[in-house]
Amino acid sequence: MQENICSIPINDVFMPKDGCPMCRMRDMLERRKAEYVTGSAMMEPNVRIRTNEEGFCYRHFSMMLQLGKRLSNALILDSHLQKVAENIVLTSPKGKFDKKRLAALQTMTKDCFICRDIKENMENMVRIVHAMWIGEPEFRQLYSEQPYICLEHYALLLDVDQKGLGKSFDGFYQATLALTGNYLQELHGDVTHFCSMFDYRNADADWGNSRDSIERSVEFLTGEKIIPEEAVEEE
Ligand SMILES: [Zn+2]
Ligand SMILES: [Zn+2]
Repeated sequence: MQENICSIPINDVFMPKDGCPMCRMRDMLERRKAEYVTGSAMMEPNVRIRTNEEGFCYRHFSMMLQLGKRLSNALILDSHLQKVAENIVLTSPKGKFDKKRLAALQTMTKDCFICRDIKENMENMVRIVHAMWIGEPEFRQLYSEQPYICLEHYALLLDVDQKGLGKSFDGFYQATLALTGNYLQELHGDVTHFCSMFDYRNADADWGNSRDSIERSVEFLTGEKIIPEEAVEEE
């Protein structure tokens, strides 16, 4: 796991200046994890025990199906379904209702092996971003040149290890606030403008940057891109 973290080049993630860099980082981590789970982790008993117990959410199952071999996915499901069965009446004596097993099942349905891992890794990444922001003026410059930081990652960047930032906390806060706050204002302005374009008095007015303001708002608020309708139809 440690290797994964170190091999994510933070500078490269921030270089494209396209959308939220932390979302890009998460996407990279998720993709690697989904490939790992359906690849080399197949042979790691410790990982298999955890994936059997925790299972996966829809988002990460979808990635695994997309990135991994069908046989790998089937083998993961085979042992996971066995574990699910153990938490259902199948293994309780005479099919008796078992409260503990139901509780275990509820935990299981909420859990996801990859979600857990990403959460942990993203927190570590935030610590590295903090350290780079403090120690490397070039990175501080690159950070300030990002188009924006999405809402979720604004909260994450400011919540994780505040103490670690020490005296630099205020500077980091101001820099991050500028990225999120300025974009929020711009976005809000675009959405308001979009709404106003439906007023007949503005029939000849310019749409400006407002046409895709709905999609951009959702992306800012959720960290997820809206897939254009045409792309969905094509599939
Ligand atoms: Zn983000
Ligand atoms: Zn998940």
